[in-house]
Amino acid sequence: KLSKRLLTIANIVPEGARLADIGSDHALLPTYLVQQGRVPFAVAGEVNKGPKEAAERQVRDAGLTGRIEVRLGNGLAVLQPGEIDAVSIAGMGGALIASILDAGQEKLQSVQTLILQPNVGEDLVRRWLRQHGWHLAAETILEEDGKIYEVLTAVRMEAEHRSDVPLYAERTVEETTLRLTEETLLRMGPYLIREPKDAWFRKWEYELDKLDMIRKQLERSTSESADDKRAELEVEKNRIREVL
Ligand code: SAM
Repeated sequence: KLSKRLLTIANIVPEGARLADIGSDHALLPTYLVQQGRVPFAVAGEVNKGPKEAAERQVRDAGLTGRIEVRLGNGLAVLQPGEIDAVSIAGMGGALIASILDAGQEKLQSVQTLILQPNVGEDLVRRWLRQHGWHLAAETILEEDGKIYEVLTAVRMEAEHRSDVPLYAERTVEETTLRLTEETLLRMGPYLIREPKDAWFRKWEYELDKLDMIRKQLERSTSESADDKRAELEVEKNRIREVL
């Protein structure tokens, strides 16, 4: 049975898309999607041998050899140009996800949809999308086993719209008279801010608690760099409080 997190991702994959799941580990996501008949073909990419072998076993046991190709390699390097319509990258840090996308840009030419689930550093993913002609089309947040996950969906932006389009919902946020900075939107999510869920509040309240804890530790220090750090923390906390 698929976890709630992977099921959330599965439900976003467009019907009929040829999918590449990068960092697939046991290939649970592509297996589920092919079994459901939602995707006709998938590539499970893995950079590490252990997970790659686990993926191969999974695909063989499910009788899906030929429908799911398990490939060993770094990020999008396992793909041939044109063979894939959608890419999922889940369960890693946002910095790694952004660097995988960045290194593999020429492999993305046929790709219409990106489904990305960073464990941390969501802002880095949003920023990369924005800077590389991808439109953030949806955001989902969910909680499972005490952990909170965000799933970001991006679609290719038409060339004529590319010239520095504001993040979606920026306008809507303005309409509610909240003046949020770009930085806040990138960190906290333009859609999630607009329609906040319980999990989103919990995430940012937890984040505030963490910042408080760091501040308390810094209070014991008298160095100048601790002063700078404290000032930074206050900015960060105010940025979050402004929205909550
Ligand atoms: N995507 C699955 C999920 O969300 O449940 C597995 C997540 S697992 C925590 C991360 C996987 O990404 C590991 O199996 C790791 O080997 C793989 N990985 C890390 N860096 C990678 C890269 N540059 N290219 C391909 N796979 C990578």
